Amino acid sequence: MSDRRPTTAPSDRTGRATTDAGLAWAVLRGVAKAVRGFSVTFRQIFRKDVTTQYPKEIADLPPRAHIGRHLLNRHENGLEKCIGCELCAWACPADAIYVQGADNTPANRVSAGERHASVYQINYLRCIMCGLCVEACPTRALTLTSNYEMAFETREEAILEKWQLLEPPPPLGTAPGTEEGK
Ligand code: SF4
Ligand code: SF4
Repeated sequence: MSDRRPTTAPSDRTGRATTDAGLAWAVLRGVAKAVRGFSVTFRQIFRKDVTTQYPKEIADLPPRAHIGRHLLNRHENGLEKCIGCELCAWACPADAIYVQGADNTPANRVSAGERHASVYQINYLRCIMCGLCVEACPTRALTLTSNYEMAFETREEAILEKWQLLEPPPPLGTAPGTEEGK
């Protein structure tokens, strides 16, 4: 008489079958999700390429886009609008602006007000282009331009002085480094 016995009890076999079915179902669902995911990738192959070839092609900005370097403005008679009040520096959340005010004198009239900025610096390693300084300025001396091409090789270069900020920034695409090989 043989004493071979089933290695697995009937209830165990039922349990394993249930587990196997669950595993197969989970694998199927995983495969279906993968196929659905790859279908997104596959669809992109036939879409038109929309990569902008910057800096050879510079996309137009909205006309009211003020997202770049600041400009210190002058009155039509050439006097600076900045009166050295430091409100922009106080408003700046990144502590990026340094202003030192000085009195205008008959021999040295720089601005239209009583005072002017003898030192005006913006540190572009700190600036986050939030525009709060522009909002705080009582004379509209400070505005943001749309020139976002600001690359620096040293930390010192990233601090723009007043004479630089009084000059309008160059057109987009003309800054050093935006032409290939230059
Ligand atoms: S744009 Fe914002 S972060 Fe930049 S200098 Fe003005 S207030 Fe400061
Ligand atoms: S830029 Fe405007 S807020 Fe800043 S110091 Fe000059 S006048 Fe004052």
